[in-house]
Amino acid sequence: MQDTIVLYPAPGMGHIVPMVKLGKLILRHCHYLSVAVLLTTSPHEPSATTSYTSHVTRTTPSLTFHRFPPLSTPQDTSPIRSRTAMAFEFIRLNTPNVLNALQSISTTSTIKALVIDMFCTSALHVASDLNIPTYYFYTSGAAALAAFLYLPTIHNQNTQSFKDLTDTYFHFPSLPPIRASHMPEPILDRDDPAYHDFIYFTAHLPKSRGILTNTFEALEPKAIKVIAEGACVPDTPTPPVYYIGPLVADDDGRAEDGDGAGTAECLSWLDAQPSRSVVFLCFGSRGTFSAAQLKEIAIGLERSGQRFLWVVRSPPLTDEEVRTRSSSRHGEPDLDALLPEGFLGRTKDKGLVVKTWAPQVEVLNRESVGGFVTHCGWNSVLEAVCAGLPMVAWPLYAEQHLNRAVLVEDMKLAMPMDQAEDGFVNADEVEKRIRALMDSEEGRKLRDWSGKMRKEAAAAWVEGGTSRVAFTKFTESWKQN
Ligand code: UDP
Repeated sequence: MQDTIVLYPAPGMGHIVPMVKLGKLILRHCHYLSVAVLLTTSPHEPSATTSYTSHVTRTTPSLTFHRFPPLSTPQDTSPIRSRTAMAFEFIRLNTPNVLNALQSISTTSTIKALVIDMFCTSALHVASDLNIPTYYFYTSGAAALAAFLYLPTIHNQNTQSFKDLTDTYFHFPSLPPIRASHMPEPILDRDDPAYHDFIYFTAHLPKSRGILTNTFEALEPKAIKVIAEGACVPDTPTPPVYYIGPLVADDDGRAEDGDGAGTAECLSWLDAQPSRSVVFLCFGSRGTFSAAQLKEIAIGLERSGQRFLWVVRSPPLTDEEVRTRSSSRHGEPDLDALLPEGFLGRTKDKGLVVKTWAPQVEVLNRESVGGFVTHCGWNSVLEAVCAGLPMVAWPLYAEQHLNRAVLVEDMKLAMPMDQAEDGFVNADEVEKRIRALMDSEEGRKLRDWSGKMRKEAAAAWVEGGTSRVAFTKFTESWKQN
């Protein structure tokens, strides 16, 4: 029987693409294996997922997708439930499908390992009942992993919600102190079931056979050391953690790339700019700003006098607009209405504003790009590291405040954007930071260090490199069954 590794990502491109990337890596290095990817089926499946999976099926035939049937009982979608709580519940309701899929795959293959996304912890006991070793694939960095491993300890030490402890700082092993209100938003409120889902997930991390993490040793030595010492899981042994990064998006991960014409315009504009002269501003797949914040960014950018490429998205709908569905705003932003009067005309020789999406990996690797203002999503961070670019850290959601803290204080790869209590940044701060990043001694130091880290990133995956060795250990660990 063929040996197979089964991968189980959470729904959504942001989870499926990295898992497929891992699957391809396994296939490239272990020719004797096949890889099966389990996919849930949601009534709101975006067409991007199906076109992406069809593309992968055509180009990588030894990777197969196992699509679950739709749920037989509809989910409770009452608006008081948070998106994260619903996502966890949706995956939990798919547990019988996981069992069926694993049993069905087992009739023709020997499943050597199951690799799950953190949202898919509910599959852990199913695999354990079937004696299948289960690993997590944690797609953020070691610092965030250290925090998650330690979260059950923090949970046991407190009784209040993080949202009610605004001025309290929490001390996680090896990390700079984290303010309660800067914890990832799904765990701010103990009354949200998502909080308890996270505690369940983080408490189960140590029960897995191992944890794959998308980072590399030279980038996060401090966090990696404390995890290895067991300081993040005080009461039980920490399972092996395999640091196998940097895994960054490749061509077929870009289903959202927008139209080819926009991409070509943006790249050819960059190619016409002087070396290292352009600052790139881009805030992930979900980062949005209010109209007021967009105006401040525009004013700061213009005053900085630096060349820029800026990805602008439509501001989020207000609660009122969502409730009454009254807004005519949708999709593409109306730049003339959102940006200060005359801004596009005045900056046309120095800057380019693109709507909604830019081909980030290609942009970051253009010769003309010299700095990156980022929301600190982990993929963006790794992409910047691989391109050797210094950053300004402007966190927005999820674990990004934590990423900002380590990027600035430990990794020395970014300078912080100072935000007001509510996250707002004024034009003076934008101007000051962009100038500092692109044209100051501090910026030059960050650039030098980023260049060194770029070499370390490349070295991690050469023969004998730390990530290559860790990956081999991972592939050998399941042979011991
Ligand atoms: N991305 C892109 N163009 C954009 C915005 C995002 O190519 O205009 C890509 C980016 O390269 C990265 C991913 O989308 O691979 C965003 O992932 P990240 O973890 O940084 O942030 P998230 O979107 O999960 O908040």
